[in-house]
Amino acid sequence: MPKNTIHSKQRYLIMCVRCGKTVDERHDQTLCGACGGPLDLAWNYANLKDWMPDSTIEGAVMRYAALLPIQKFDTNLTLQEGDTPLYKLESLGKKLGLRNLYVKNEGANPTGVFKDRGTYVEVLKAKELREKALIVASSGNMAASCAAYTAKAQMPCYVLVPETTPVGKLVQMLEYGAHVVKITGEYSDCVRLAQKLAPLHNLYLAGDFVFRREGQKTLAYELCDEFQRMEKFSGKKIDAPDVVIVPMGAGTHLAGIWKGFKDYFQLGFITKMPRMIGVQADGSAVIVEAFDKNLTRCGTWKKTSTICSAVAVADPLDGDFALQAVYQTGGTMLSISDTETLKAQKLLAEVEALFVEPSSALTIAALPHLFARKLIKNGERIVCVATGNGLKDPQTPLMSLPQPPILAANEDVVSRYLQRKIG
Ligand SMILES: *Cc1c(COP(=O)(O)O)cnc(C)c1O
Ligand SMILES: [Zn+2]
Repeated sequence: MPKNTIHSKQRYLIMCVRCGKTVDERHDQTLCGACGGPLDLAWNYANLKDWMPDSTIEGAVMRYAALLPIQKFDTNLTLQEGDTPLYKLESLGKKLGLRNLYVKNEGANPTGVFKDRGTYVEVLKAKELREKALIVASSGNMAASCAAYTAKAQMPCYVLVPETTPVGKLVQMLEYGAHVVKITGEYSDCVRLAQKLAPLHNLYLAGDFVFRREGQKTLAYELCDEFQRMEKFSGKKIDAPDVVIVPMGAGTHLAGIWKGFKDYFQLGFITKMPRMIGVQADGSAVIVEAFDKNLTRCGTWKKTSTICSAVAVADPLDGDFALQAVYQTGGTMLSISDTETLKAQKLLAEVEALFVEPSSALTIAALPHLFARKLIKNGERIVCVATGNGLKDPQTPLMSLPQPPILAANEDVVSRYLQRKIG
């Protein structure tokens, strides 16, 4: 029997993405022991033949529990992650010439970011492995999310973040009671430190690892289920969106969403795979650089430089995975300047009343480029994933917004000002 065959009763195997070696599920097994590559779960779909998502089960993670690597779900730890709104952008779509443009608003998650789906699964796994405390390196959102779920689980949480972490994220992790250390370096320095220090201090290493990626899959399931519900009314065949556009830092989110679509495809719930499109900031376009050179291996940069702090990743752990997702689905990758990203952030807020953080606006900024290069077409069902809430990082957009005037508390003064404005 080949080494990687799944036994009929096993739900999944954990394998190295690079060298294919299988590994045991252990608390210190976050990367491949043989080559240091990222790990992935291979699911035994034969066990899921009769499974169907039950739409009466509330909560995205519980509804899809059969496709998640947790033995027993502690529902006391859920914060009601997932089941986020899917908006059709009629006004912005009209402006851009795209009549089926959607945004999946992941900023509506409990801590304001998509990562909550993965964090719930990761913290459940830490509990299952009887871990006492957790350490996480983060550019802000991952730590805020981990701090929330560990607060719920009453588990100490140690956080390493860059000194420049946006204030909205910092205040969250402090309120949730995490032990926060600011590092004079960038995100990749924090990751390197956390990986070294976790075993030394017997802490569970949370981050862009195998169990988190599984939690992120639920966004893909949810999207397919939502489009299928729409199909009932339109009478047309819609099973998955045509295109899904995702901002990339480490690439874990895009890889997880792709994996979710693959699960649904394998199970026969959808008949085609959406094209996956990854967007980065010009100042941290590490994965895009590999894509432009047609490489399957993502490199590393020494430094990043962008206002999109949530995607400023110099050493993307799931870069190879994201490249594979894009190549295999006939998608593409591109990078965007900070100036354009800020404009797109403002446009989305003004036209659609959706205030997202700069990293999330990358997907909106990408649309005119993709359209001009004929990589997306009018009529296709296009979903931009809005990864995080705008209040997470108020300082960045404030720098380019007009300052409101400060006037005396005097009726005439304010009236004169209004008259000038109204014209
Ligand atoms: C973490 C994050 C990303 C990037 O996701 P990756 O999984 O690192 O590619 C994008 N946007 C926001 C708001 C994030 O917090
Ligand atoms: Zn390996």
